[in-house]
Amino acid sequence: MSAKIIDGKKISEELRLKTAEAVKNRKDSVRAPGLAVIIVGNNPASRIYVNNKKKACEICGFTSYEYAISEDAPEAELLSLIERLNNDDGIDGILCQLPLPSHMDENKVIDAISPEKDVDGFSPVSTGNLVAGKPCFAPCTPAGVVEMLKYEGIEISGKHCVIVGRSNIVGKPAALLMLQENATVTVCHSKTKDLAQEVRRADIVIAAIGKAGFITEDMIKEGAIVIDVGINRLENGKVTGDVDFEAVKEKASYITPVPGGVGPMTITMLMKNTLTAWERKFGC
Ligand code: NDP
Repeated sequence: MSAKIIDGKKISEELRLKTAEAVKNRKDSVRAPGLAVIIVGNNPASRIYVNNKKKACEICGFTSYEYAISEDAPEAELLSLIERLNNDDGIDGILCQLPLPSHMDENKVIDAISPEKDVDGFSPVSTGNLVAGKPCFAPCTPAGVVEMLKYEGIEISGKHCVIVGRSNIVGKPAALLMLQENATVTVCHSKTKDLAQEVRRADIVIAAIGKAGFITEDMIKEGAIVIDVGINRLENGKVTGDVDFEAVKEKASYITPVPGGVGPMTITMLMKNTLTAWERKFGC
């Protein structure tokens, strides 16, 4: 059997067009959704991410505002910008591109973003709501994973989902979202004993480790669904995931490629969260 390849790029394009449609239908009566993106310093990867977010805003009919802060600016300058954006009526979502320079405290910066505008879903209020199963802005990457599964019509309820990785931005929120969808969830990490055995029990595997080709074919149950969150740059410049794609696709029933799988969904979910913030504000 060869797995169905889940095309994250295609799903993303469709969802972005749907978002654009929702905005177009309302825009005559209210202003367009506004997303503020803050970039600190000159990290080239951050610049690429910010540019991609701006492009997605254009497609969705949002207004994007970019705020650049210099690498050596004091933390107070960033905090006061966030305070100003929190009180700006034209801004629905605020995103501060990570990582920040080492003299800035990421937690403090994330905490400063108003929960109503926390479209990245990283604030303690968003996390608390996610744990409690209340409506919230879920972190974009794991929310994108759930969205992809649903788009493909994959039943999550009752399935055994094994997540490899327990970071605050991917592994842990993925576990909470899959629980909310009634999966039975196991979370593995670097101290897990016999990780291969745990993964072999999975109906759905979510790999978020950051190690190229870590999940091999022998760890996969016949017909399992395999979602690869990893983004690893090889020495030859190629980007690859955490899953040994070529071998695993012969055993899985569905698999996401890297690139073109979970990656595009992350920005799409950011757009979705911003749309939700805007809809809440204008009572749509
Ligand atoms: P982190 O480095 O924060 O977390 C990695 C996790 O993997 C940790 O929980 C760690 O365990 C676990 N891990 C590492 N080595 C092993 C091992 N040998 N056995 C078992 N578990 C292990 O990474 P992120 O969660 O931020 O990102 C994971 C991957 O996803 C990266 O490749 C990243 O680039 C990618 N990513 C992709 C995104 C997208 O849009 N597609 C968005 C965000 C991330 P422990 O906690 O015990 O150390």
